[in-house]
Amino acid sequence: MGEAGKVMIEAVEDRGEDYSGDFLAEVEARVEEGEWVTMCTQCGVCSGSCPLGPDWEHPPHRIFQLIRANRRDEVLGSPSVWMCTSCHACVVRCPRGVPVAHVMHGLAHYAVRRGLAPADPPTRRLAERFWENVVRTGRVNEPRLALSLLFANGLAEGVRRTLRSRDAGLGLLKAGRMSRLAAVAGDGVKDPAELRAILEKARAIELAKAAALED
Ligand code: SF4
Ligand code: SF4
Repeated sequence: MGEAGKVMIEAVEDRGEDYSGDFLAEVEARVEEGEWVTMCTQCGVCSGSCPLGPDWEHPPHRIFQLIRANRRDEVLGSPSVWMCTSCHACVVRCPRGVPVAHVMHGLAHYAVRRGLAPADPPTRRLAERFWENVVRTGRVNEPRLALSLLFANGLAEGVRRTLRSRDAGLGLLKAGRMSRLAAVAGDGVKDPAELRAILEKARAIELAKAAALED
């Protein structure tokens, strides 16, 4: 082990963290791309590159450290693994080639499979609404997506949130980035049924992959 690795281990031991558990083995065996965790040298480049890094409870390099420190509930129950927007800044910069974004998504998916995901992590609702929106016609209908998010907690809060966001909405309309008619007459791909069949097949492949990881 290099000097940097020893320093990192000593720092972790100073905090009373235990490297003897088997959460790392569980991640390697059951989380998609989890086998990459041991490649991390804790250089911190991923967290320094992440546009959302300051908002994460545990930035990506810390998530890798917590896995190795056997902090299972803290990792799988953390909203942090739901913060990744797949911008891939970390992926292209990691000196060890770790697919950080994929590991974060793998951990989030695994937390759902284990029933340990936080109830309402910041990006989960957006991901679900985005998916429902795009599957319907094959194209994202931004006004409908925004409205479904604004009104997700009922009418009264929806009205309040819409009023709070009105300047941003009007700005988008003025700049021609959003059409007034799109909410009622948005377009789609030529054959949405074919698209849904493709997505169904992809879902079956993903489910089979997840099931194989459980074996
Ligand atoms: S950039 Fe790569 S090696 Fe560095 S802390 Fe992040 S995952 Fe680990
Ligand atoms: S891919 Fe995810 S973890 Fe990586 S820099 Fe972007 S938001 Fe952060």
